[in-house]
Amino acid sequence: NASPDQGTDLAYRVNSPNVRYHPDHIEADYRYQNTKVSQDASGRMIAEPTETHYQFKTESLLPRVGIMLVGWGGNNGSTVTASVLANRLGISWHTKEGLQRPNYFGSVVLSSTVKLGVRADTGADVFVPFHDVLPMVHPNDLVIGGWDINRANLADAMARSKVLEYDLQRQLRPHLEGLVPLPSVYYPDYIAANQSDRADNILPGSDKQAHLDQLRRDIREFRQTNALDKVIVLWTANTERFSSLEAGVNDTAENLLHAIRTSHSEVAPSTLFAVASVLEGAPFINGSPQNTFVPGMLELAEQHRVYVGGDDFKSGQTKMKSVLTDFLVNAGIRPLAITSYNHLGNNDGFNLSAPQQFRSKEISKSNVVDDMVAANHLLYPRRPTNAPNGTKATAEPATELDGPDHVVVIKYVPAVGDSKRALDEYYSEIFMGGRNTISLYNTCEDSLLASPLILDLVILTELMTRISYRVLPTTAGSSLPSEVPEYAPFHSVLSILSYMLKAPVVPPNTPVVNALSKQRSAMENIFRACVGLPPQNDMQLEHKAF
Ligand code: NAD
Repeated sequence: NASPDQGTDLAYRVNSPNVRYHPDHIEADYRYQNTKVSQDASGRMIAEPTETHYQFKTESLLPRVGIMLVGWGGNNGSTVTASVLANRLGISWHTKEGLQRPNYFGSVVLSSTVKLGVRADTGADVFVPFHDVLPMVHPNDLVIGGWDINRANLADAMARSKVLEYDLQRQLRPHLEGLVPLPSVYYPDYIAANQSDRADNILPGSDKQAHLDQLRRDIREFRQTNALDKVIVLWTANTERFSSLEAGVNDTAENLLHAIRTSHSEVAPSTLFAVASVLEGAPFINGSPQNTFVPGMLELAEQHRVYVGGDDFKSGQTKMKSVLTDFLVNAGIRPLAITSYNHLGNNDGFNLSAPQQFRSKEISKSNVVDDMVAANHLLYPRRPTNAPNGTKATAEPATELDGPDHVVVIKYVPAVGDSKRALDEYYSEIFMGGRNTISLYNTCEDSLLASPLILDLVILTELMTRISYRVLPTTAGSSLPSEVPEYAPFHSVLSILSYMLKAPVVPPNTPVVNALSKQRSAMENIFRACVGLPPQNDMQLEHKAF
C-alpha cells in the first residue's frame, strides 16, 4: 500500500546539513539543550547549560493502519466512525444553517498549524499544517473495527447516540448498517449495574485466559482480513471501577499473566484488552479514567516494547482547566478554589451516576492542576522550606503544598443527552488581598469533542511507532564516534500524548505535565527535532533590534 512519495512529499523541506532525506526515511541530527540545576555548599543554585546529541530516524512510508475501538457502539465509537466515513465519502448534509460539509475541526493534527519559520524576505510568520510536519496517516485511510458488549450495528448505535444531524445519519445509514461490533468481555461489577441491559453481545464463560486468547485472535483476524500493516487498540468503553492493586496479582507482568490464567477477580476487562494488544504488538490507548495500566501491565508493555498511552480523554472542562490555571498561576494570581460541576445525559453519564465509576472520574479530574501549582512556590510555598523569603531552595522536593481547594461534581440529567454542561468557578487571591471570581459555562456535544481526540491519539501513536532515536556521545570536533549505538524506540509509555489526556500516564520517575501549552510545545518541538529544526520560541529577536 505504501508508495515511496507518500511520506516524504511534505509541504516543505529542510535545507540543512542536519537532515538527510532517504527514499524511506528521514534522518536528523539534533542538539538538545537543557539547563541542569544543582546547589553549592551555601545553598545557592547553580544553573549549567547542557547539550546532548540526538539522532532521530523517521520512517516516511505510510503503513495501512486499522483501529479497533473497545466500546465501538458507544457515543464516541459510533460518532468517530460515522464522521470518518462522512469525510472519506465527502457526504454533506443540510441543517437549518445551510449545507454543512464534513471536517476534522477539534483535531490538533488535522485542523491546526505549526509555525515553520519566518519568510526570508519580509520576516512574516510561515505556517504549515500540523499534519505536514512529519509524514502522518490520514484518518480517511483508517480501517475501523472493534468490540462492544451491545450488538447494535453502527447505524443503530449512531441513531441511539443522538449526536449527528438526522440528514447526515440518513445518508450514512447504508454504509454503517453492515458494521457490527465483535462480542466483548463483560465482568458486571466493573461498570455500573445500570449497564446490564446493554450486555447482549458478550464472550461466554468467565475464564479470563480464554477471553484473552479470543481478543488476541480478534486482533490477528482484523489485521489479516483487512491486510493491515499495523493495528492500534483504543478503549472508549464505559468507565470501570478501579482494580485493587494487590501484591502477587497485578504488581508484575508475570503475576498479571498468572492472575489471568487463574481468572482473578481484580483483572479488569480493560486490562485484559491492554494485555491482548501488547501481546499482539498493537499499541493500546486508554480513553477512560480507570487504572487499566496496573504496574504489571506497564511492565509487560516495557518487556514487549509496545506503546501504551492514557488515561482519560482531555476533552472539555479539564482542557479549559489546564489552560486557565496555567494562565492564572503564571500571571502571579493565586487560585484558592476551583469548583467544577458537570451534568450530562448520555450513557457515559448514566454509568458515572454509580459511585465507584464516578470515583474513577473524580480521581482523574482531580490531579490536573498539581504541576502548575507546584511550579510556583511564591504563590504556594512548600513546607518545610529552608529559604526565609521563599525564593530559594526550589530544587527541594515538595513535601507539603497548600494547593487550591478542588472539587468535582458530576450529575446525570437525561434530558440534555450528549450535550454536556460544565460550570466552573475559579476563585483567586489577587493584589493586596483582593479576590477575583471567574465563572465559566461550557456547553458542547461531548462526543464531538472526544472523537477528534481519538483520531489524534491514533495518528500520533502510529507516527511514534515510526520514529526511533539514539544518543551519540559528545565528541570534540564534528567526526562521529566509532561506536554508534543502534536506533531504539522511545519508552513504551507515550507521555507525548498528554495533550489529549486528562491524567497522563508517564514513564517511572517522569514529571507529569498537565499544562496544555507545554504539552503542545512538547509535541511540536519533538517533531521539529525529527527534521533537525530548533524548538519553536517566541523571542522574535529579529523584530526587536533597531
Ligand atoms: P458510551 O457509554 O456511549 O459508550 C461506551 C460503550 O462501551 C457502550 O456502547 C457500551 O456498551 C460499551 N462497553 C462497556 N463495557 C464494555 C466492554 N467491556 N467491552 C466492550 N464494550 C463495552 O460512552 P461514551 O460517551 O462513548 O464515552 C466512552 C468513554 O470515554 C467513557 O468511559 C467516558 O468516560 C470516556 N470519556 C469520554 C469523554 C467525552 O466524550 N468527551 C471524555 C473523556 C473520557
